[in-house]
Amino acid sequence: MESYNSFKTAQRQIIEAAKILNLDEATTQLLSEPQKEFNFSLHVKMDNGKVKIFKGYRIQYNIARGPAKGGIRYHPAETVDTIRALACWMTWKTAVVDLPLGGGKGGVCCDPKSMSLRELENLSREYIRTIAPFIGVDKDIPAPDVYTNPQTMAWMMDEYETIMNNHQPGVFTDKPTQVGGTEGRRDATARGGVITVREACKLLGFDPTKKFAIQGFGNAGQRAALLHHELLGGGKLIAVSDSRGAIYSPDGFNSKELVMHKLKTGSITGFPGSKKIPHEQLLELDVEVLYPAALENAISINNAKNIKAKIVCELANGPTTPEADLILNKKGIHVIPDILASAGGVTVSYFEMVQDKYSFFWDEKTVHQRLDQKLTNAYHRVHEAVMEKKIHPRLAAMVVGIARVAEACKLRGWV
Ligand code: GLU
Repeated sequence: MESYNSFKTAQRQIIEAAKILNLDEATTQLLSEPQKEFNFSLHVKMDNGKVKIFKGYRIQYNIARGPAKGGIRYHPAETVDTIRALACWMTWKTAVVDLPLGGGKGGVCCDPKSMSLRELENLSREYIRTIAPFIGVDKDIPAPDVYTNPQTMAWMMDEYETIMNNHQPGVFTDKPTQVGGTEGRRDATARGGVITVREACKLLGFDPTKKFAIQGFGNAGQRAALLHHELLGGGKLIAVSDSRGAIYSPDGFNSKELVMHKLKTGSITGFPGSKKIPHEQLLELDVEVLYPAALENAISINNAKNIKAKIVCELANGPTTPEADLILNKKGIHVIPDILASAGGVTVSYFEMVQDKYSFFWDEKTVHQRLDQKLTNAYHRVHEAVMEKKIHPRLAAMVVGIARVAEACKLRGWV
């Protein structure tokens, strides 16, 4: 998944932002380490009757602004440092969109694609049996992430409520609507990203009705394909990829049919009328907008110099390596950084928590309007920091988020 340590990158970013903000040493140190980490072994009964042991993690990176918030990933290449980095970025992400939340992340080192539904349910319930005392509506609220989904959250919530012997749906977000989920959560990450692209186009004069490409066609990628047309009034989707391959069509795909094909066959490959292309070629196509929506480190020193997109809207967490970032900046590519571009998901997660607390649910239109307002404000706040401090957007987003977290730590008397 990665050839180097994402957490070291996250720590370097903190030092860079701390310099700009003139943070004292204690604050910088405090922000450079997770506040709490839980590492555990999960013993799970598999379909063959044998027990298998998995490594699990939950990290509450910083809770100065509110309870920890962030997803749980199931991935074979999971490491504690990946989770640390992602928990750290969640902290700045919730702060950039000004949510009253901290940051966290969890994960299990497993290969979900080779596991049955029952094995995944056993694993999810065991994860909660282990971590239940340390999470809660006012402590730490997990959500889905890579290879977990609303069904995973429903199992986890059910296990948690059984242990606690009461109803507490708000302890997990992105649940199915039938069990306390909110309207508008499933497309929230993509919607947030497309809203930031809309603002960038208005402000900087890019044209969203030209060509675009999507790397990764999971939930975020699929929704971005549909929403780019819907919210930006056009655009030609000329290339998409998933873990099985990349496809290209110079005339543009019908996004709806492509999503249907993916849902039916499990992959985008073999879509009628498409041409197979190498993965790397997708990233290097001449497009107005490129959405990286897969895993970390997709844009690296190996391909950054060939990227021709005008806007890179990071729907994935950490898709650009630091070296690649420098190259993109030098080339004048407008990067909308992950902690801003992908903040729509956690924003609507927060709306879900609020609705669960009140046990009163909003309609989809209200969710969309409130999300739009949050992401539009955040985009412009980050742009102001770009202009004020003459820094690139990723650092500007860090500066905005880190300043808010540092202030909360100071007000609490931690530093
Ligand atoms: N996993 C998503 C993210 O990385 C959502 C987190 C959440 O809703 O808590 O932003």
